[in-house]
Amino acid sequence: MSMPDAMPLPGVGEELKQAKEIEDAEKYSFMATVTKAPKKQIQFADDMQEFTKFPTKTGRRSLSRSISQSSTDSYSSAASYTDSSDDEVSPRDKQQTNSKGSSNFCVKNIKQAEFGRREIEIAEQDMSALISLRKRAQGEKPLAGAKIVGCTHITAQTAVLIETLCALGAQCRWSACNIYSTQNEVAAALAEAGVAVFAWKGESEDDFWWCIDRCVNMDGWQANMILDDGGDLTHWVYKKYPNVFKKIRGIVEESVTGVHRLYQLSKAGKLCVPAMNVNDSVTKQKFDNLYCCRESILDGLKRTTDVMFGGKQVVVCGYGEVGKGCCAALKALGAIVYITEIDPICALQACMDGFRVVKLNEVIRQVDVVITCTGNKNVVTREHLDRMKNSCIVCNMGHSNTEIDVTSLRTPELTWERVRSQVDHVIWPDGKRVVLLAEGRLLNLSCSTVPTFVLSITATTQALALIELYNAPEGRYKQDVYLLPKKMDEYVASLHLPSFDAHLTELTDDQAKYLGLNKNGPFKPNYYRY
Ligand code: NAD
Repeated sequence: MSMPDAMPLPGVGEELKQAKEIEDAEKYSFMATVTKAPKKQIQFADDMQEFTKFPTKTGRRSLSRSISQSSTDSYSSAASYTDSSDDEVSPRDKQQTNSKGSSNFCVKNIKQAEFGRREIEIAEQDMSALISLRKRAQGEKPLAGAKIVGCTHITAQTAVLIETLCALGAQCRWSACNIYSTQNEVAAALAEAGVAVFAWKGESEDDFWWCIDRCVNMDGWQANMILDDGGDLTHWVYKKYPNVFKKIRGIVEESVTGVHRLYQLSKAGKLCVPAMNVNDSVTKQKFDNLYCCRESILDGLKRTTDVMFGGKQVVVCGYGEVGKGCCAALKALGAIVYITEIDPICALQACMDGFRVVKLNEVIRQVDVVITCTGNKNVVTREHLDRMKNSCIVCNMGHSNTEIDVTSLRTPELTWERVRSQVDHVIWPDGKRVVLLAEGRLLNLSCSTVPTFVLSITATTQALALIELYNAPEGRYKQDVYLLPKKMDEYVASLHLPSFDAHLTELTDDQAKYLGLNKNGPFKPNYYRY
């Protein structure tokens, strides 16, 4: 099937550019084994050649991010088993060893490892595709010799990913990409299992960078792969240890924000290794961003506020993937949903989906809930906050804490009252209260759990991206940002179909010829939008 040529975007230059075809792709024999699985829907025996053929460049996303400020709350998730007795002592000041005598980690409390192991085992139940990849590939060990330094949320689901990478031969050192989202017991379980993990819930900003530094800067160990979520780890290596890039074979980046940073580096001619943009792969963006948020927005709001949604007026800022997911959930519970958008296409989609598109100013006095999903900054300003009605709930679903101008609320005339973990009442002199969740940080990761199955899809994509970059022969990938091959997206999806006992229809020879497709895919061109 012919793939599209470069599609110029205003101000971007190239989007979805097809890289030249790549030879030498016969290495992932574990993929061939997958084809023999009884419920396998897509055949991959010979098409891993296709899978590795089309690394594609992607366009940049215009978003910004800043590092969270420090806080030391305990975790509010029901999935957490934080021991409050030693909350006051910083993990940096503790001497801890695991049962094998290793102290090559820094977590809140290594004694929570057993609880954490149970959490990981529960997550494994709903990550069968990733576990199946682990089982099938662990004989081959496609990551043997890989030294992966990672910076992601540290949850039961990412632990399954990390342990999969280890099972495939990698050595891992890991820190958290968010100061709130670490499940302490999971970090403890990883440390007990021998992973060098440096993370705990409620890190200060200084702790955050210290943990990243401990992962990168280790005598006798040098990373050759990076797995990042948000770009902070990559940024740190560039800033502090640029020589490390001499050994790095590639960066795999998960988030919108981190990808944007990679494009900035690339544009400035400073990207010195190949990078895989996992965020824009269909199996990440159309699943994690959309379905994960559809399933977790209500959970985060309910756990923190016990709010009832029927008849409530909610404004959602941003109708991208995350916004669409949130709106679908809110609408289903009978909320009256307004949208703000800067992009006429997304605004039109919102209209067609039955939402009123408004400016924030027009509804700010009447709404009961404000949710930001833009990845942008200062979407909700102090002026908006001043005009909100009493008890208005304000929260953010974007990656960073830049969307709501929380700093502007730290002024002497306003009183802050911590009413629950992750819930602040900000009180105006006239008695009006605004309910601020997670201090404007990502609501679902801070205040609830996220659905495991959807994270399995993202994690499988990340694992395959690492395998591909690590094993790629010299010259296959240049110092640029690549989108995962469509074939890989289809493969990840096919691995997850058996969970639903879904039966794919196979093209007949005649139909394949008629559509100009290979019977085994890829089934869509790169520019297809799903
Ligand atoms: P997206 O680019 O698809 O959507 C963002 C939308 O916001 C775009 O349509 C854009 O036009 C709009 N926008 C930008 N500035 C705006 C403004 N000032 N006012 C109104 N609208 C504005 O991105 P996405 O995939 O929806 O991700 C959004 C954010 O959520 C990112 O920061 C991403 O990292 C994060 N994210 C969060 C989760 C989660 O679990 N909470 C999951 C995935 C992604």
